[in-house]
This record gives sequence, structure tokens and C-alpha cells, in this order.
Amino acid sequence: MRRTFLAILVCLFFVSFSHAAPGAIRCGKLLDVRAGRMLSDQVVVFDDSGSVTAVGPAASTKLPAGVTAMDLSAATCLPGLIDVHTHITADPNASGYQALAISVPREAVTGVKNARLTLRAGFTTVRNVGATGYTDVAVRDGINDGQIEGPRMLVSGPALGITGGHCDNNLLPSEFHNKAEGVADGPWAARAKVREVIKYGADVIKVCASGGVLSKGDQPGTPQYTLEELTAIAEEAHKLGRKVAAHAHGTQSIKDAIRAGIDSIEHSSLIDDEGIALAKQHGTYLDFDIYNDDFILQEGAKAGMLPESIEKEKKIGRLQRENFRHAWESGAKMAFATDAGVYPHGDNAKQFSKMVEWGMKPIDAIQAATVNAADLLGWAGKVGAIEPGHYADIIAVSGDPLANVRVLEAVKFVMKGGVVARNDFASK
Ligand SMILES: [Zn+2]
Repeated sequence: MRRTFLAILVCLFFVSFSHAAPGAIRCGKLLDVRAGRMLSDQVVVFDDSGSVTAVGPAASTKLPAGVTAMDLSAATCLPGLIDVHTHITADPNASGYQALAISVPREAVTGVKNARLTLRAGFTTVRNVGATGYTDVAVRDGINDGQIEGPRMLVSGPALGITGGHCDNNLLPSEFHNKAEGVADGPWAARAKVREVIKYGADVIKVCASGGVLSKGDQPGTPQYTLEELTAIAEEAHKLGRKVAAHAHGTQSIKDAIRAGIDSIEHSSLIDDEGIALAKQHGTYLDFDIYNDDFILQEGAKAGMLPESIEKEKKIGRLQRENFRHAWESGAKMAFATDAGVYPHGDNAKQFSKMVEWGMKPIDAIQAATVNAADLLGWAGKVGAIEPGHYADIIAVSGDPLANVRVLEAVKFVMKGGVVARNDFASK
């Protein structure tokens, strides 16, 4: 009797802090993303640590005592999605000079809103690559402490970059002495900056190797960091147990970043055959953000993007999509990366249909956002698949994503670590 009472008290304690209780989900269909197979009438069992303990046919899989499976028999389940390139604290409606008016605390509040939107869209893990004032560290820690709702986050803090480069801030004249906090010139200053961002909470290092689209006074194709600087950054980061993501649109910078030992190339827009061959040789992931071009061209001017940025996007957007197709057909490794924050958060899944339009099968695009992304993050044993030992990060949709990948744009059920964040099936 007393033991039962204690058990109830313990349960109440856990529920109030959004911890998982043992449970199970019955899925009408379940996509085995690793094998690319759709399974029927499956049950997923998870424990009170929020980890999957068993997956199998509903008829033969034993449920723990006292557990009733949640009924998703009309739905298709798949692992929580992963976006390896977000800016969760960025507001897509404030770009260029408009963004100068946003304080660091205000940016953090924006991040709280966007973390919830991203999770509810089915993205249970993100890699955030670039934020001002360590706002992404704050959002990550708030989520991990159970104070706010959001995906699992690996975060970079401020992006490293050269003076006057894509990851500096070039909007104000010299008397304002405005320098982005990630600016570091020279191999040893860059090494020191790697140490600094790790000191303040970075899980991953973001570096701007080439020019970019949304920065003032540079060109996407132009190299910024030298091979020597990139090599120093990669060595320092790896020594300290962090991977490195390099923003690189330019042909030369992509090759320099790969040769430096960097783990993923972001944007990859102007990659050539030699760059693709190098990426395959080094095992480097190529991350192409091929959805947001549409948003920049349609909405960018309203959001305050500079006219030069719109012009740059017009030149590079289509080339990036063509090179995505070519790199994929050439056998390069790819992870799902959208640059959320350039376009509205929560629309991340709109990139799936672009990836299919430009050469992937639906299962390829889904693998890019699950098993491949997990591998790039270094979390292959934890996320990106519904398998024993992985977190119970599970989403569900109506319909078959292998027949129509756009069903992923309307995720109806989201569970993270055994805790339900959204269930539109329950209200019907
Ligand atoms: Zn970005």
C-alpha cells in the first residue's frame, strides 16, 4: 500500500518535469530507415529513461506490465527528423540592417519560440551552426533542463570568420568598431577562438571558409580563410573532441576545407568534380540547403535582405541545385541541412520535395535527415533510427512518405525521449 503511494508520488514528480515513463506505441506502418523498408503493424517499447527497448510486430512483442500502447494504428511512424544546419535564434523576418536592432537577449527569446516550432514540425534533433552571444547555448541548456520545449541541440555559438568576411558584420562604418565575436585572423588566433567557443559551451565548431550570400561586400565564390587557417581550426577542434562545419560556397574553399579535415561542407554551392572526389575520399559530408532559394527570392527584400544579397542568390541558387544533383549522382555523402532562420522555422521539411525534385528518391532524402545526419553528428547510436538503445524520438504522419515525401510537411505526432510533444491523432 505504502509502496503504491510512493510510486504514485514518484510518477507525479516525473510527469511534472516532463520525464518519460515506460510506454509503447502501436504503429500501423513503421519505416525502417536504415533498410529502407516499410513494416506493418509494429510496436515500439520504451523505458523510463526515454530509450527504445524493443521494436517488433504487434502480435509478438511483449509489453511491460501495466503498459498500454498508444494507438497510432492509422499512422506511419518514423524516427524523429534531424536538420544539421539551423539558426534557431535567427528571425527570418529581420535581415540586413533590420537585424542590427535585435539585442542578444531578444535573440534568445526568438530561439525559445523557434525551438518549439522546430520540435512540433517533427525535428527532434538539430545542429545549430551560428548564433550571436551564445544564444544557442542558452536555448540548448534550457531545453536540456526541461525549462522550455525544443529538439536535442548540438550548438556552435558564434561562427569563426575572417575580418570583413561572411561571418563578420560589415554593415556599419569604422567609427562603430563593430566586429562579430567569432572573428579571428591567423592560425593561432583561430585556434584560440576554437578554445574560446568551447569554453562557453560549443558542441561543434562553425567556420566561414568562403564568402556568402547574406553578408555585405563579399562574394560567395571567394575564399576567405586560408588552407593554413582551416587546418589549424580542424586540428584544434578535433583535439578537443569537436567536429567542424565549414560554410563554403566557393569551389576553392570547399577543397581547402576538405583537405583541412573539416567534417561537413555547408552550402557546397560551387563544388566541382575535384571537390566531389575529395569529399568522397575524405568521407566529408556535403550539406546542400536547396529549399531556401525560393524564400530568399520571394520574401528576402521584405525581410530587409540587401539588394546585393538578392543578386548573389539569383546567380548561385540554381547552380547549387544542379551541383546537388551531380554530387548525389556521383556518390557523395549527404546530410539534411536547410539553413532554417533564413526561411521560417518549422518549414524545414519543405526541403524534402526539393531533394526529390533534384535527384534523390524519397528514402534517400529521409536517410539524409535520419541515419546520415546522426552519423555526421557523432550520435549514430542515439538518434536517427527507431532501434533498441536509441532515444524514443518518434514522429508519425498520415500516408506513405516513400510514395509522397511531402507528407513530412504535416507531421501529426512527435515524441522526444518518450515524452509526447504533439499528438494530432488523439484529438480525433
Ligand atoms: Zn547558415
